[in-house]
Amino acid sequence: MGGPAAPRENAEFDRDVVIVGGGPTGSTAGVFTARYGLDTVIFDRGRSSIQRCAYLENFPGFPAGIDIETLYELLHDHAAEAGCAVVSDLVESVEREDGGFAVETQDGRRVTARRVVAATRYGGEYLRGFGDEAMFETYEYDGEERHRFDRSYPEHDGTTPIEGLYVASPSRAADRQAIIAAGRGARVAITLVEEARGDRGYPEPLTDRYDWVRRESALDDEWSDRDRWREHFRDRLPDGHGRSEERLAELCEHEIDRRLATYIPADERERRAERGQRRLVAHIDDDIVLEAAQELEADRRSSGGD
Ligand SMILES: Cc1cc2nc3c(=O)[nH]c(=O)nc-3n(C[C@H](O)[C@H](O)[C@H](O)COP(=O)(O)OP(=O)(O)OC[C@H]3O[C@@H](n4cnc5c(N)ncnc54)[C@H](O)[C@@H]3O)c2cc1C
Repeated sequence: MGGPAAPRENAEFDRDVVIVGGGPTGSTAGVFTARYGLDTVIFDRGRSSIQRCAYLENFPGFPAGIDIETLYELLHDHAAEAGCAVVSDLVESVEREDGGFAVETQDGRRVTARRVVAATRYGGEYLRGFGDEAMFETYEYDGEERHRFDRSYPEHDGTTPIEGLYVASPSRAADRQAIIAAGRGARVAITLVEEARGDRGYPEPLTDRYDWVRRESALDDEWSDRDRWREHFRDRLPDGHGRSEERLAELCEHEIDRRLATYIPADERERRAERGQRRLVAHIDDDIVLEAAQELEADRRSSGGD
């Protein structure tokens, strides 16, 4: 994770975030919310767009394409590694409860959460309980009148008129291709994280956050000094922010801890690189790994190596 975890947002809810749908959109959203430290559960079951694809050939990073089963395992493993619980269950309803939401599932689970992200390319019926007719549109199919979730309901950043409810999928701009769907999941999760930071007390523009780690060698003397960060924090404070000095100091120190923890030394980079490659191998068919290993060994022998 990128730095010290943020404390649980709201202890009165079971989770900080429930994500409905663990396809490219929802899994990616979960990586971003959980890496910020938000306690996130992803429910994934039911009608899926990506499962209808025979074989994925245009998702960057897989030169000869990737089968959907392996892609799903990678997406879910990544979300779990970031800290999400990934649960195979179908969300049947989401309703308002005590300033958050109550989510009910097919297998009888009932989970409350401060925020909910809808990430289901198909469906949306589970949102009917809000009674907001603007969420659904009517269309005609085979001479029959049907209803579906209106892709223009959410704003571009995924927010909706219902505070705490975000819609990442379906969306007007991002549901044709899996990579764009994944990008939209990230975009919407970043909106959510920024709003969570706002709730914690960070005034804009200090709600922003970059989800990356840097090379320790890039940390110069100036930015190793906590006072430089304090100055930077104060410089970005908007006029009339209304926070007490005590609260500001607390937020500032937490932010500095987090920023400094994002710089990693060379040996840690190497450790992460090796771990990352081993994790990838774990997703490749054992017979293929063994075959490749035997070929490598044979090559090494014939070239006189160990
Ligand atoms: C036939 C076909 C071929 C395609 N081929 C390609 C291609 O080659 N390349 C490409 O880039 N894109 C392709 N696409 C498009 C791609 O599938 C979508 O862009 C992408 O899958 C959208 O991702 P998503 O996560 O928003 O939705 P989905 O992929 O539909 O994922 C949503 C997930 O949510 C789950 N879910 C649904 N309802 C619920 C619920 N109520 N509770 C819990 N979980 C729920 C589903 O099981 C699913 O796992 C294809 C689509 C189709 C239909």
